[in-house]
Amino acid sequence: MDAGEVLRLDREHVWHPYTAVPSGVPVHVVRRAGGVRITLGDGRELIDGMASWWAAIHGHNHPRLNQAARDQIDDMAHVMFGGLTHEPAVRLAHRLAGMTGLDRVFLADSGSVAVEVAIKMAVQYSGRSTLLTVRGGYHGDTFAAMSVCDPVNGMHHLFGGMLPRHVFAPAPPHDYGRRPVGTSPTTPTGPTTPTGPDEAYLAELTAAVEAHADRLAAIIVEPVVQGAGGMRFSHPAYLRRLRDLADEHGILLIADEIATGFGRTGEMFGCDHAGIRPDIMCVGKALTGGYMTLAATLCTARVADRIGVLMHGPTYMGNPLACAVAGASLDLLAERPWREEVARIEAALLDGLAPAAGAPGVRDVRVLGAIGVIETDQPVDVAKIQDIVMGHGVWLRPFGHLIYTMPPYACTPEDVARISAAMVAATAAL
Ligand SMILES: *Cc1c(COP(=O)(O)O)cnc(C)c1O
Repeated sequence: MDAGEVLRLDREHVWHPYTAVPSGVPVHVVRRAGGVRITLGDGRELIDGMASWWAAIHGHNHPRLNQAARDQIDDMAHVMFGGLTHEPAVRLAHRLAGMTGLDRVFLADSGSVAVEVAIKMAVQYSGRSTLLTVRGGYHGDTFAAMSVCDPVNGMHHLFGGMLPRHVFAPAPPHDYGRRPVGTSPTTPTGPTTPTGPDEAYLAELTAAVEAHADRLAAIIVEPVVQGAGGMRFSHPAYLRRLRDLADEHGILLIADEIATGFGRTGEMFGCDHAGIRPDIMCVGKALTGGYMTLAATLCTARVADRIGVLMHGPTYMGNPLACAVAGASLDLLAERPWREEVARIEAALLDGLAPAAGAPGVRDVRVLGAIGVIETDQPVDVAKIQDIVMGHGVWLRPFGHLIYTMPPYACTPEDVARISAAMVAATAAL
């Protein structure tokens, strides 16, 4: 098919994320992707500044991941996981347990499903059905996951009638990460991580947990970075406090590491900033290096023992192809100097985004690990911003008040400079 035909049939049949059919916003045909670049139908090459939604950390079309997929497909693409097992799944589970200290692993088919499973674990464990979370979060698009997404930014206005009511503590302050000099006076500025946590916020968080402790099944949060809920970075002390409160009241702590896992924030997991271990953890997105959908929900042996029979079991559970690629992706991660790479990306983003700090229409510029954010005063015009950044050879997908990037770790400082320049150029359109 030529690109025109793809677009014609796309308009006729295909739903894209959060759009109508036909989509009111432009879509672009991708012919191939290799390294950190995607090639469009018209031959244009764009740096994938989104790592295809946080996932393609090693870049696209990686020879090692391709080989893992080929080797596995020659053995088997899939077998059911009920009553059968195989090396790719077991090896991956063993690997994830070693990385997290959480010994029991449920392999799920997407991040949202991993969150559903985490919630089921907490409900089966405690016999309770109320969760506590903080505002500003995002945990996925399925119903239980939606119920703990931010009730204003999320989809509660559409589906509220079907969502259980949970407890929402206030959103954590934006008080972590690094900001280029000259950013908003309302936020800490300067190149170093700011000082202590907000004591008033800690008190609010504590009060919220204490007020509901006797009916909570679990506390569920994204550690340190709230992703799709607003790209907010918050002090690890809040997470540490939640850990302490959970222990004190015998409540489980669920860490949704689907966006933050595997090095994105500069630590292997968001929880590592706080030096804590959750009782239940969800991972996904970068787990397969962006190759295919796979996620996992991990918990301690203590939690698993008390649950006993966990009532979930997807058709494609433990898919061998996805597990083999995930195993290869974790091998690559272990081999690559990701800590230095992420630190280099962080430095390049701080440099590159500095000109946006204080620009008209810009509320805040912030960077943490391989995440760079320009927050705007007004909601952005997505198509207009995309047009500008694509003119700079970069692919981004802004939303709400955010123009942001989380590039593949394989990006060079020059690639990151290019992405940053495109983001800064886009602020001219605000
Ligand atoms: C993306 C995301 C999810 C949902 O994962 P899907 O694979 O899109 O279902 C859940 N939690 C967080 C923190 C995420 O970033």
